[in-house]
Amino acid sequence: MRILVTNDDGVFSPGLVALASVAARFGQVRVVAPDVEQSATSHSITIDRPLKMSPTPVGDFKAFRVNGTPADCVALGLYRLDGADLVLSGINLGSNLGHEIWYSGTVAAARQAALLGVPAAAFSLVGGEGDRPRFRAVVAYVERVIRLLLEEPTLPLVNVNLPPEPKGIRWTRQSVRAHTGRVVEGEDTFGRRNYWLAEAPLSDPDEGTDRWAAERGLVSLTPLRLDLTDVTTPADPDAAALIALKEAAPRAR
Ligand code: MN
Repeated sequence: MRILVTNDDGVFSPGLVALASVAARFGQVRVVAPDVEQSATSHSITIDRPLKMSPTPVGDFKAFRVNGTPADCVALGLYRLDGADLVLSGINLGSNLGHEIWYSGTVAAARQAALLGVPAAAFSLVGGEGDRPRFRAVVAYVERVIRLLLEEPTLPLVNVNLPPEPKGIRWTRQSVRAHTGRVVEGEDTFGRRNYWLAEAPLSDPDEGTDRWAAERGLVSLTPLRLDLTDVTTPADPDAAALIALKEAAPRAR
């Protein structure tokens, strides 16, 4: 089994070594990760300049750093390493719950793999933003989840959030009830105004969602889809006809 490991926190993140070490129990690991932090870059790709892959050992693993985004790393890794059977992204230093999935470079790296036909999973450590993220309590769960995903090969893309002290594993759905984005105003050392994009914690998430599970100390497994079509609100056939008529109407001179 050939496993490509990547992340969005950069090639020197402790979460990357932690994930590669667990992945090595399942097969041959190759690491391709961004040279600097790329958190919240989502699924962006680099098209206005060439990319470089430079050898940079990660622990005992053969690894490359790329001057690009997480999605770039997966595309280049799969190309240069002649494919992979599984792509794992993370372990991200911080959660990727609910609408955070939209911004996440960690999830986007896994999604890039899924788009290229390789099953993938994104791993994130809830509360891992601090100076000393602790992976000791979660590695056993990362191993259990990888085993579970290998037994369930029909799942192309899974978003995994690990609470710091997991008590169990739970399949969940994405929490979408509220968007908590806000802007926080500050001041630089010269007294000039600046801004931080921030989030307010969401309270009382709906039962069965990723946030709900994480708050209860459960590892959250959310299967994600590539088709974003909203099938619950089918297009109105009359509206479609109206658009066609308008397009067909002769233009006024
Ligand atoms: Mn990150």
